Amino acid sequence: MTADIDPFRAIGLSRLAHTLKAEGRSIIHMEFGQPSTGAPPAAIAEAHRVLDTDAMGYWESTPLRERIARLYDERYGATVHPDNILITNGASPALVLALNAAFAPGDRIALARPGYVAYRNTLKALHMVPVEIDCGPEVRFQLTAGAVAALDPAPAGLIVASPANPTGTIIAADELAAIAAVCAERGIRIISDEIYHGLSYVGPTPSILSFAPDAFVINSFSKYWSMAGWRLGWLVAPDDLLAQCRALIGNLFLTAPSLAQHAGLAAMDETEVLEGHVAAYACNRDLMLAALPGLGLGQGSGSIAPPDGAFYIWADIGHLTDNSLSFCEQLLRDTGVATAPGVDFDPVHGHRFMRFSFAVSTEEIEEALRRMEPWFAGRSAMPGA
Ligand code: PLP
Repeated sequence: MTADIDPFRAIGLSRLAHTLKAEGRSIIHMEFGQPSTGAPPAAIAEAHRVLDTDAMGYWESTPLRERIARLYDERYGATVHPDNILITNGASPALVLALNAAFAPGDRIALARPGYVAYRNTLKALHMVPVEIDCGPEVRFQLTAGAVAALDPAPAGLIVASPANPTGTIIAADELAAIAAVCAERGIRIISDEIYHGLSYVGPTPSILSFAPDAFVINSFSKYWSMAGWRLGWLVAPDDLLAQCRALIGNLFLTAPSLAQHAGLAAMDETEVLEGHVAAYACNRDLMLAALPGLGLGQGSGSIAPPDGAFYIWADIGHLTDNSLSFCEQLLRDTGVATAPGVDFDPVHGHRFMRFSFAVSTEEIEEALRRMEPWFAGRSAMPGA
């Protein structure tokens, strides 16, 4: 039976944004979690060099696996053997590999709602059953050990995302440890999506590997390293499922692009440039949080969890609309500011939420706020519109 997969509605809005741009409109792209900065200069220089000298065959870079293993040591003090790292075409195939290796069709996999749209849809495409845990503002839209312990029956797996998309909230180390303990006790295998690690405004982000050595970790060059279109990421696979993961990657995906692997390795030493991006996001975050009350957001029942990391703000717009998709489309048509409708991330409450991505330049944030303030003020004047 074919799985019933929902569309990623922000893609439709982005298409509209590009059409409007082609018609001469000025557009600010805050709909995707996509750094506007491009790859770090050393990555570009390495790519140019390699293009002229490398035959670009199928290849998995050992130096890149070793460098990623070093990242775990440097960032978390965790030991990861390079052999346990599989280089993938981004986090998306890494998720497919982990799910396929660990679970069977019909298995129940728990995850937070709201959450990244592709988790639910990838699970459905693989004929697994998403078990969504409703995570509201009182838990900063994040999983808790208590919520995982309360699942009955226990699911086969749990997807953890911290910092999360669409909220940017981080699970504190003690809570993450408690989640890992509940999962160990109940035989629940964890897949931890750590794609937003490195993008934190509240200090270090703990990795699940510090608490659950048999967890899968997925990560990518798309966010911190600002290389989304290069399609490069990785999977840390636990020993017991490593051979299965290797068999799957060989059959489903072969190897990641050679060019991207060379460039990604060079990017990993561009600390100054990359930390400059984080500083810019921190500034954008502050501007956005300061401006939200002026947009009538984040007050009263519509509380906002300030993002600890990533580059998103998840905003309750329930006092303005019960249709976040048409709300975001109207905002785009009227102001040229493209955003993502909450329905992508939460099929139950998402009709009254929207997501702003602040992975754009600070000038664009300032301009977006200039355009949005009068627009939101107009909407506030006509509740229910
Ligand atoms: N995981 C999360 C939480 C994401 O937000 C995204 C993309 O936005 C992905 C995974 C997919 O990333 P990639 O570009 O590495 O496939």
